[in-house]
Amino acid sequence: MQDLINNLPKLAKDKHNENKKFFAKLKKKPPKDLDYLMQELHEKEFERTDCLECANCCKTTGPLFTDKDVDRIAKHFRMKTQQFIAEFLRIDEDNDYVLQSVPCTFLGADNYCSIYEVRPKACKEFPHTDRKKFQQISNLTLKNVSICPAAYNIVEDMKKRIK
Ligand code: SF4
Ligand code: SF4
Repeated sequence: MQDLINNLPKLAKDKHNENKKFFAKLKKKPPKDLDYLMQELHEKEFERTDCLECANCCKTTGPLFTDKDVDRIAKHFRMKTQQFIAEFLRIDEDNDYVLQSVPCTFLGADNYCSIYEVRPKACKEFPHTDRKKFQQISNLTLKNVSICPAAYNIVEDMKKRIK
């Protein structure tokens, strides 16, 4: 797995133009059964990919924290919201709360998330490959294929299945 993760930025770069064309076409004319197909490809991929062997998203990017995420996680630590923000978060250029640094502070050496039960919504949903109307997040997916081996494989499978 580590070899694949190390090679992923190069693999994704090599596929970037092909992927960009594919998503441009998908946006114009998404297949009627796209939601079902994505569900199928997502489930198939995560049967063979173990996130605990990877954790590359937690190590390299980290999520956005919504206000609800901040309240929930601060409560979990029995901290005041402002105290939690001051200790762990910063505001990025899009005015969103993000981690002060990566790898994520809450990631253990064993790749387990220490706040798994209350983790941000964005962590729960990453890499978003089972979301409805998948064609609407093509730009995000074009980036995610260089971070997430599962997203990379799913996009490769999509190109085989959607002609
Ligand atoms: S979601 Fe993707 S990047 Fe994150 S741990 Fe799982 S396979 Fe790795
Ligand atoms: S909160 Fe948990 S799931 Fe989210 S980036 Fe940190 S370690 Fe990963």
